Amino acid sequence: MRLLFVLCLYLPFLSLFSDTYDVLIAGGGPAGLTASIYTSRLGLKTFVAEGTVAGGQLSTTHVVENFPGFPNGINGPVLISNMREQAIKYLAKVQSLDVKSMDFSTYPYRATLSNNEILETKSLIIATGSSPKLLGLDSEASLFGQGVSTCAVCDAPLYKDQNVLVVGGGDSAFEEALLLSQFAKKVTIVHRSDTFRASNILRERVASKKNISIKTFTKVINISDPLKGYVDGATLENTQSGKLEKISCDGVFIAIGQIPNTSWLQGSVTTNSSGIIIKAPQGVFAAGDVVDNRYKQAITASGSGCKAALDAYQYLELKKGN
Ligand code: NAP
Repeated sequence: MRLLFVLCLYLPFLSLFSDTYDVLIAGGGPAGLTASIYTSRLGLKTFVAEGTVAGGQLSTTHVVENFPGFPNGINGPVLISNMREQAIKYLAKVQSLDVKSMDFSTYPYRATLSNNEILETKSLIIATGSSPKLLGLDSEASLFGQGVSTCAVCDAPLYKDQNVLVVGGGDSAFEEALLLSQFAKKVTIVHRSDTFRASNILRERVASKKNISIKTFTKVINISDPLKGYVDGATLENTQSGKLEKISCDGVFIAIGQIPNTSWLQGSVTTNSSGIIIKAPQGVFAAGDVVDNRYKQAITASGSGCKAALDAYQYLELKKGN
């Protein structure tokens, strides 16, 4: 009778929590999935909250030409789906959910998932990647999806025989321009200086395309009239002379870098001025774009996912010994 009373008292509370995991991995890009392959293969009970768009940025990458082992390149979503399959083979639980928030005030830590399930975990690997940086223009926000885009892989075919601008001077901008050049009539890369971060190979490919031109020392200060509901042009400013120019175009692709996705951690990790995680609570590890704003490659994300997994394993082994 007494046992029944105790059970009645605690059962509703216990049912709030599902199993306790050894490792919760937030993020299902190359960093998170590589980490999950390692942790699950090492016998750690692993849960991957892969986010609602599985695969992170690789899911919108047409061909990955520099991931070792694929001499003819591999399609981004296929690479991700292979990693996912490999993790599941070693019994990682992979679900299309986000981690909404973490409670580090109790141990095991508690994670609230986007389906409001609360999950307990002895360690956490943060691999939530990064999101495209935007210019911060009002017109950019209101015309997003109506001619303003950050994803040529998703939207390039919509611009067949049209004129588009690509903003930025790094690898992303040059890759976007190259892909767009296969569909659009004319692609103009708009860059705020004449110093490019894009690699030589991409710069050479862009130079060889007749329908891509580059405007240096130029920034976009406005995109069309938001009330129109679609993009029909942009206002450009010469960063040296201040001279303004109106240019007609049908699309504006922003490719000016990424911001690490760490806001869900609500200040429980320390980040630098670029949003990169530099310090986290005990048993919390980070991998991929949330710790790297320099290399940002699928292979480096995978490498750091592997390191985070091994660090989590060592942490849990030490904790067991205590
Ligand atoms: P990035 O290398 O940081 O380049 C960002 C570009 O945007 C720079 O040219 C920067 O100009 C410009 N920019 C930044 N903020 C701006 C603003 N507010 N207004 C106008 N222009 C602005 O970013 P990314 O091209 O996204 O590349 C990120 C990383 O991913 C890099 O390490 C890159 O190598 C890698 N990546 C690799 C590949 C590949 O290997 N195939 C493909 C894509 C990306 P400033 O130079 O003046 O700052």
